[in-house]
Amino acid sequence: MTVSGVPRVTLHDGGLIPQLGFGVYKVEPEETRRAVGEALEAGYRHVDTAQMYGNEREVGEAIRASGLERGDVYVTSKLDNGFHEPEDARKAFEKTLSELGFDYVDLFLIHWPLPNRYGGDFVSTWNTLEEFRADGRARSIGVSNFQPSHLERLAAGSDTVPAVNQIESHPYLTNDRVRDHCRERGIAVEAWSPLARGGVLEEPAVTAVAGKTGKTPAQVVLRWHIQRANIVFPKSVTPSRIRENFDLFDFELNPGDMEAITLLDRGEEGRVGSHPDA
Ligand code: NAD
Repeated sequence: MTVSGVPRVTLHDGGLIPQLGFGVYKVEPEETRRAVGEALEAGYRHVDTAQMYGNEREVGEAIRASGLERGDVYVTSKLDNGFHEPEDARKAFEKTLSELGFDYVDLFLIHWPLPNRYGGDFVSTWNTLEEFRADGRARSIGVSNFQPSHLERLAAGSDTVPAVNQIESHPYLTNDRVRDHCRERGIAVEAWSPLARGGVLEEPAVTAVAGKTGKTPAQVVLRWHIQRANIVFPKSVTPSRIRENFDLFDFELNPGDMEAITLLDRGEEGRVGSHPDA
């Protein structure tokens, strides 16, 4: 199924998530209303925010100002690191809903596993997210930055399989071991920093494919993700780039082009963010 040309991915709990969305990490609150407005205007119907980003309020305002129905836009937020204790998580989740101004989120994630804090007890945090799903205030629940060992611990303490795992993944860190582990368990993979924060766009392997296809390097890398079945939400505050990053569905990369980009993988050296075990 596609809407505005964007495929929907079916999550194991039946939820439908647009495979392409708009990320707002490090977008200042004042910028967020405009940038999310531009993204919705361009056709995006999925916004990825987090308590940590400090811009949930503006995301909600932009969605309301767009005139779209609440149900037309898929909204994800994430539990901040200081709120893993169940009672803290409950309060933080209520704050997310009141900041957004919505009575539900489509997807709510544990942002980081924090294995070295709170005795590493992210299982009780997960059990608390299960409450939000049961009462309908989170349509789907999932995790972010969980390594296979963290997912195994969750599986030992809960029957609820995360709907998604949002992990760092891009051509410099394909993160295939974690992706494969998730796929085998029916957990959809969301790739954060899909452009390696812009770092990968001048790679000759990328610019060569861009030259051949008449697309931009960003479009080529995002298309690579789409064909690898990753869910992505590139960030930009520049209107032309916001539109460019949405325009991915009228071309295809051939297997050789896909392979050339996958070969840019540098493993752990390619990380642009923190390691989940840290
Ligand atoms: P990204 O890979 O999306 O890169 C964004 C940067 O790439 C921009 O700031 C800009 O400099 C450049 N860029 C974007 N479009 C471009 C274009 N068309 N041409 C040239 N340059 C372009 O990085 P990101 O923002 O770190 O990640 C995307 C989203 O992933 C975030 O906004 C957030 O929603 C999510 N995220 C989640 C986590 C997590 O821990 N769960 C961590 C980081 C990011």
